[in-house]
Amino acid sequence: MRLLLLGGTSEARELAALLVDAGIDVTTSLAGRVARPRLPVGAVRIGGFGGVHGLRAALAGYDAVVDATHPFAQGMSANAEAACGSSGMPLLRLERPGWEPDPAWSYVSSHEEAAGRAAELGARPFVTVGRQELRRFVPALASSAVLARVVDVPDLELPAAWRLVTSRGPYSLDGERELFREHGADVLVTKDSGGTYTWPKMLAARELGVPVVVVRRPPGAAGVPVVHDVAEAFAWVRAAAG
Ligand code: NAP
Repeated sequence: MRLLLLGGTSEARELAALLVDAGIDVTTSLAGRVARPRLPVGAVRIGGFGGVHGLRAALAGYDAVVDATHPFAQGMSANAEAACGSSGMPLLRLERPGWEPDPAWSYVSSHEEAAGRAAELGARPFVTVGRQELRRFVPALASSAVLARVVDVPDLELPAAWRLVTSRGPYSLDGERELFREHGADVLVTKDSGGTYTWPKMLAARELGVPVVVVRRPPGAAGVPVVHDVAEAFAWVRAAAG
């Protein structure tokens, strides 16, 4: 059994560790977006496949695929569905659940909508949507005192009123509280990433009475079986391995 694990998440690293322990031949694929990725155990390949066509060609080296990419990595998941579907390759989606909705949060369907809502709710937004999406916040928030947190510095000229911090989770509640206070953040913007690594910012916002704007997840690949935790994904691979 040779498994291709589409990664870039903590769940993918956990699954890779379980599979290596169980003696299953796993290769984790990373997009190569961050400068110093946290590497999983087992084999790793880095970089895009070259669309559906390239992925379909790469599948010749594997017997099954687990798509454990981030809930917002919609393009990779769609490509995996298309390439596996047309080549009869077993595919499982491992997707962490979204956060339990809080009545105090505003859900929006796009980053542009999130930017507009943040501008209505505050003047000092704390924006935690990732480097790739930041440009979508510039038009609505150009004159706001934005604190933007990213892993790597974006390739984008930021408005003069913005401040950038680079760091990577997991975060602590104490640290998040301190960051909110120090910036004077009056609205938090986030994707519905789910998981524990970035949850403390939600707790800090709740504690401090800061409103939260949450970007809803994009729809997943409709025809692909989905599990929500690493143990279930591990069981699926073991069963597929026979
Ligand atoms: P995306 O928009 O869905 O994918 C764009 C392209 O990047 C894909 O078509 C593929 O290129 C390449 N790619 C994405 N994930 C890949 C992987 N695991 N292995 C090889 N190629 C991959 O993806 P994204 O939102 O930019 O996310 C990129 C990576 O960062 C993903 O692995 C994801 O798990 C991780 N991540 C994303 C977020 C987020 O908020 N989006 C947050 C944390 C981590 P080709 O078409 O050339 O194959």
